[in-house]
Formats: sequence, structure tokens, C-alpha cells
Amino acid sequence: MHYDVAVVGGGPGGYVAAIRAAQAGKKTCLVEKGRVGGVCLNEGCIPTKTFIRTAHLLEEYRDAERFCLTGSSPGAVGVDMAGLQARKNDIVTQLTGGVSGLLKKNRVAVVQGAAAFTSPTVLKVGNESVSATDIIIASGSRPVFPKAIELAKDARLITSKEALELAVLPESVGVIGGGVIGVEFAYFLAVFGAEVHVFEAMDQILPTADAELAALARHAMEQAGVVFHTGVTVERVTGDGLVYREDGTRSEHKCEVTLMAVGRAPDATGLDLEKAGVKTERGAIVTDDRLRTSVPHVYAIGDVNGKFMLAHTASHEGEVAVDTICGLDRTMNYGTIPSCVFINPELAWIGLTERQAKERNLNFQVGRFPLANNGRALTQGETRGLVKILTEKRTGEILGAHIMAPAAGEMLGEMIVGMTLEATPDEFAVAIHAHPTLSECIAEAMADTIGKAVHK
Ligand code: NAD
Repeated sequence: MHYDVAVVGGGPGGYVAAIRAAQAGKKTCLVEKGRVGGVCLNEGCIPTKTFIRTAHLLEEYRDAERFCLTGSSPGAVGVDMAGLQARKNDIVTQLTGGVSGLLKKNRVAVVQGAAAFTSPTVLKVGNESVSATDIIIASGSRPVFPKAIELAKDARLITSKEALELAVLPESVGVIGGGVIGVEFAYFLAVFGAEVHVFEAMDQILPTADAELAALARHAMEQAGVVFHTGVTVERVTGDGLVYREDGTRSEHKCEVTLMAVGRAPDATGLDLEKAGVKTERGAIVTDDRLRTSVPHVYAIGDVNGKFMLAHTASHEGEVAVDTICGLDRTMNYGTIPSCVFINPELAWIGLTERQAKERNLNFQVGRFPLANNGRALTQGETRGLVKILTEKRTGEILGAHIMAPAAGEMLGEMIVGMTLEATPDEFAVAIHAHPTLSECIAEAMADTIGKAVHK
């Protein structure tokens, strides 16, 4: 069968690319060996957020007295893990079913099986041969197991995938890595009642976040019961815990289960890239800012190109790749990709951290507005948080925005648009923010960059 466009992998990169290609009038097929939706829908973002929703509710329930609710007995509330699994599975089924429906509606042919290149324009899928004018690789990533961490034969080691399938909550969990997976999983496991210790090699948890916000997040996580060990390296996972090194001293930590969360690696396993001549570097497919690989008409989007391993990046790259195939002039702007960490309160940011702005010798000013100064935050009973914005002194251009707040991910939307449209503090000043809302903190932090915050 010959197609205009063949997409390999049905995650948020692949399925969006396939739908966009079909919408552009291309005869399109999507090759998927598992379920459409990829890691994000099946075993990543969506299942995690389901668990985190329960953790938020549990925290609020335990805090009910503070909101003057009577008759509640917070001590009696627990988590029905089987019920939670069922709720998660329902949501996943609903979403993956929705994606299948969208593919069908847009007349994308779904070919079930594992694809391998036989030439730059032909894929083998089982006994079938699929040829296409343009091929988009969107095969995703897999968890990293570093060679430097020795694994005992009886190590009780899991990844995020298995952690989302737990039928019973472990009594104690050791988490290797204090990145996004490490902290999100540590958060809900600790709130559910497990004793959780996180071991992070860097001095800061969430090393890619702004240091000030990462420190606030660490404090909030500690209030939820998580214990952090930073500046430590894990050397071995044993049958009943792990061994880590701190300042040259080796220590043992006992835990029932260890969660490996030290990153993910691009996964092009079984694709036989060499038969197409697609160039890789350290396992990642090399792409330019139009997602073109080293081979004409072959594109790579999402985690497999190793640039930004985030679902929304993958989807956007899919759109850019399809536009490029259609002859449109469109490139990726990797400077305006948002990040969200779904702990409590949430953390969300875009652009440069203060450290990065200093390292680049930029002439910038910082505006800050704490949630504690905001009326809505007080009524909500959640004043832990901060909005911090960096703007370029001369032009007022937004260089970075960092938010810790309930639903920070939603609040960030304003900053994503502001940064993308190159809005300045003066332009923000004419935009009226509704009262009382948390988004007033954004208006105030923007005003604070030019010394004009009112409630500070
Ligand atoms: P990550 O790169 O975010 O974090 C890994 C952490 O492990 C780093 O902080 C690193 O310093 C640390 N580390 C590495 N080796 C170590 C060692 N030997 N001992 C101790 N610490 C060590 O990776 P992740 O958290 O595994 O997430 C994988 C990918 O999935 C990332 O790209 C992430 O952005 C993505 N993800 C995103 C979200 C979200 O956007 N909310 C949620 C989950 C995962």
C-alpha cells in the first residue's frame, strides 16, 4: 500500500501529525504496535494526573477542619488503590478511544504492528509493506537504567509505568532522581501514606526549574512528608533498599520498593534506521528546526529526537513537520516551551531561569509577587506560592516566567501567550485582570518588573 504520509508511533506526536496530515489532504497511515495514545495517555501524563487528583483531594480532606467543616474524620480517609486503578483505566480507555475515533473520522489508516525501515521510503510491518512519500518517526522514549547503578538480582525495582499499576501501596519507596517523574510520584505516594525518600544527584530538586521556585517546591513537598537527599548518587539497588554516596560516605537506605526516575532515552528500537540512513547521535535522531532528519522526506518528532521530552512539544513538532511536508514555511521555537510539575501547589514555567539569564549576561529585571499578598489565595487557604517574571530591561521582553500556585499550569497560559507575542510590562498594564483571581499575581509580578506593583 502506498501513502503520501506514514507516521510511526501513535503517541501525542504521532497521532496529532497523522490527523494534521490527513486534514491537509494527504493519504495518511499511522503504524502503532501497542495502543494509540502512547506513553502520555496510557502510562504517563494522564494516569499520573488521575493519581495526583486523588492526592490533592486527600490533602484537602485532611485539612477540612481549617475550612470549618464539621463531622469529618480525616484519620479514617484512605485510598482505595483498586478503585483508583479502575478510575484511571476508565479515563485512559475514554481518551485512547477518543483518539481512535479522531483518527477514523479523519480517515487515517491505522496499521497495527511494529514498523521497520527496509529503505528510506518503505516500512515493513509484519508481512505488510507500507511505502510513503514522507515518513514521520514518532517512536517515543523508554526509561533509562544507568550502568553506574548496580542492580542486585533480587532488587525490587520499578519504573513510573509499574508505579501506576500498583495494586497495593508499598510501605516505603526510595525514588532515584528528583526530576519531574521523581517529584510527581514522590508527591502522591507520600500523600497516600508511603514513607518516601528521594535521592537526587544535583544540589537542587527539579534541576531545570528556577532555583528559587524549586526551593519552595521542596519545602511544600517536605510538608507533604517527602524526605529529600540532594547532592547524592545512588550506586546500587539491593533486595531491601539502596546504597547511596554522599560526600564520599556510603550509606544504606531501606525501602520496600525502589522507583527508577533518572530520565528517559529516545527509543528507535527495531526501526532499522540504518536501512534508511537516518543519522542518530547518542541514540537520538538528529533533526533540524523543521524536524527533518539527515534523510530527505524522513522526519522525527517527539521524544525520539531527544530535544524536549514533553507531550506538547511532540504534538507541536508534529504540526511543524506536516506543514514542512506541505511546503509551508514553519519552524519550531524551542525557546517558548512551557513546563509544568503537577505537585501541590503546582509549578509551571516558561523561558529562562534567573541563573540562565545571569549566565547569558542578559540585562534583566525581576518582578516577584507572592501568593500571600493575593486575596483569592487567602480565601482559598493556599498562600504558598510565588509568581516570578524576568524581563529584558531595555525592551521589556519577557525572558522567563515562573509560577508556584494552585493550578499554576493553567495560570501559565497567559505568560505563554504573552511571551509568544512578545508582550511587555506596559502592554500587560492595560490588560484588566478579574478580581479576585490568582491571575492578578501575574499582573502584579509583571508590574513589579518596572517597580509598579500595587499590593506589595
Ligand atoms: P528528568 O531528567 O526530569 O530527571 C532525572 C533526575 O535524575 C535529574 O534531576 C538528575 O539529576 C537525576 N539523576 C540522574 N542520575 C542520578 C543518579 N545516579 N542518582 C540520583 N539522581 C540522578 O527525568 P524524569 O523525571 O525521569 O522524567 C523523564 C522525562 O519525562 C523527562 O523528559 C520529563 O520532562 C518527562 N516528564 C514530564 C512530566 C511533566 O511535564 N509533568 C512528568 C513526567 C515526566
